[in-house]
Amino acid sequence: MSSQPPALRAAILIVSTTAAKDPSTDAAEATLRSVFEQDGGNQWTVAETHIVSDDSAEIQRQITTWTEPVEEGKHIINLVVTTGGTGFAIADRTPEAVSPLLHKQAPGLVHGMLAASLAITPFAMMSRPVAGVRNKTVIITLPGSPKGAKENLQAVIKTLPHACIQAAGANSRALHSGGVKKLEKEAGVGSQGHAQAQAHTHGHSHSHQHDHGHSCHRHTHSHGHGHGHNHGNLVRLSSENPKSNDPSLGPSRRHRSSPYPMLSVDDALSLIAKHTPCPTTTTAKVTPDLVGKVLAQDIYASAPVPAFRASIVDGYAVVVPYSGHLRGVYPVVSTSHAAPSSNLVPLKEGQIARITTGAPLPPGANSVVMVEDTVLISTTKTTHPTTGQEIEEESSVEILSDGIVKPGANIREIGSDIPFNTLLLPSKNRLSPASIGLLSSIGTQSVKIYSPPTISVLSTGDEIVDPSLPRELSLGEVRDCNRPTLISVISQAGFTPLDLGIVSDKQSNLETTLRQALRSSDIVLTTGGVSMGELDLLKPTIERSLGGTIHFGRVNMKPGKPTTFATVPVKNNDGTKSQKMIFSLPGNPASALVTFYLFVLPALHQLAGISPVGLPKVPVVLGHDFPVDKSRPEYHRAMVTVSKEGKLIATSTGGQRSSKVGSLEGANALLTMPAGDGPIKKGETIEALMMGELRSELA
Ligand code: AMP
Ligand code: MG
Repeated sequence: MSSQPPALRAAILIVSTTAAKDPSTDAAEATLRSVFEQDGGNQWTVAETHIVSDDSAEIQRQITTWTEPVEEGKHIINLVVTTGGTGFAIADRTPEAVSPLLHKQAPGLVHGMLAASLAITPFAMMSRPVAGVRNKTVIITLPGSPKGAKENLQAVIKTLPHACIQAAGANSRALHSGGVKKLEKEAGVGSQGHAQAQAHTHGHSHSHQHDHGHSCHRHTHSHGHGHGHNHGNLVRLSSENPKSNDPSLGPSRRHRSSPYPMLSVDDALSLIAKHTPCPTTTTAKVTPDLVGKVLAQDIYASAPVPAFRASIVDGYAVVVPYSGHLRGVYPVVSTSHAAPSSNLVPLKEGQIARITTGAPLPPGANSVVMVEDTVLISTTKTTHPTTGQEIEEESSVEILSDGIVKPGANIREIGSDIPFNTLLLPSKNRLSPASIGLLSSIGTQSVKIYSPPTISVLSTGDEIVDPSLPRELSLGEVRDCNRPTLISVISQAGFTPLDLGIVSDKQSNLETTLRQALRSSDIVLTTGGVSMGELDLLKPTIERSLGGTIHFGRVNMKPGKPTTFATVPVKNNDGTKSQKMIFSLPGNPASALVTFYLFVLPALHQLAGISPVGLPKVPVVLGHDFPVDKSRPEYHRAMVTVSKEGKLIATSTGGQRSSKVGSLEGANALLTMPAGDGPIKKGETIEALMMGELRSELA
């Protein structure tokens, strides 16, 4: 064997009906590429990738193409990995499609993959991998879930170069000359350490899966082995202590300080960005309902506008002579109206044609004189084409314009408004009323848009009363302010909230409502129940009952310190699996609204395909001294006004206590105040997050 083995060429076949329809839903390819890159010891090139539906013939066609014998000296594909279709669902048929293609079976590779996965979850039994050789190419079938696929490939990748080199026809004796120990050393595996090493890698990669995962984790495969959920519980039971309170132990056993690390706002935002799934797309008809939706494709003009040479004014189409002089009396030989017309009479020099705004120019005409620059000279009697009545028709008209009438004047040339094939609307653009106009102008029937995300909103707390109840409050009761506020702000931001009402501080109620919410929406938004009280049940319920992962439970900010963000693996109503997001915001109304803008809005934007995400930022000048918090950066509710001089001036809307709803009424901005000692002085410039419209001193 040469000491420098040639780069091995791998091909990835994604088997997924969903991904075949919309490649953007596929996360497996990126995951597998990174395994080849990171775990493949610099031996692999991913030479080909292809997506097919869960269809035997398609699978077989692609694999046979890749594994065809090639001429001497040409490159072969050394390894084909498929991902998807290895489960027990009716649509899962990859192993059945691949098996008959194999010239040699490789049960050892199958065993290796299963053993490694079984060390992580018994659900590995739900994968039915096959492996073998066709012609000179090794083929293995991986499960469809990116996580399962990754783990399976990692389990065998170290041994694959050897298998591939042999399959490609290398001399077996030469390959084995150093014995198994040498092979293991070259492959970076050991016969004793092997099992443990693998188990360790997996345990590690799992317990921290959310810290180095990809942001696009929307699982579109219902098949594959269901690592996500069960796997999570397994690791938690065996290795980690739960972080949240165990509510069954009673108040005296709760944490007396939060066990969650205090994250900076920026770190919290990057975790959210990382765990927000990629947006999905759908096709929609072009109607006014599309306003506010987000384009998932670039739109090019498929037709020029105008589609014909049209007059910009009411007047007379003329043929400007070479001299440019037009003054004189001309016979009116025809009429062109803004209406479909198939028989426009060509215009000759010395003739004119009456023309209306938007009407097509007669062939030969090269300019239009406005009616205001003409005088009627003579008429003839004629019959009206539709009413049949006798009318006076213009027969000659004098053009008054002295001097030069330029050719091309008052004409909209073909494509002068929208040239053919120009980029009209870029992807990720939120459609405006004007966009609907543009799409209609070029005759676009339907467009690809990002599916609008769904978000459920619920309030928690035994003391919270539905504000629609027309009754006095008893001692301790509080009217629900958060849910109506958040629902309004979500609608205002162009999304559709789902109102899930008020849930009492009882773990079973919370669990039931959260499960229902998670199944029917992409994001679940709760308020209350994230402080340090024994009835603050959100975190324990997410972690203990729902098997979720809390990515942060404390943020260094004011207001909003206990803001909590988690993801939960969920089996949807349609049988697919995905990671759903829960934002549990503090109960105090000002905190809830501020943290919505700061954390939830960017996630909604990202999920909706909108970029940039979150509130727009503008530098503003402080209109007076602002106090700051000693240790936490503060989001100060303020009104930003455009002064007469055109400066943006910020003034506080008053008391910043987090329970104070009033400080948000009348605020159009959150000023980002750094923590520190003294006040920040009048006249200094600070970054503001704009929640509402600017107020103007001029208006
Ligand atoms: P919690 O986060 O549950 O500890 O609540 C903190 C404070 O916010 C308490 O005073 C609650 O009564 C109040 N609060 C919680 N939820 C709401 C709500 N939906 N509307 C108004 N106040 C609330
Ligand atoms: Mg509460």
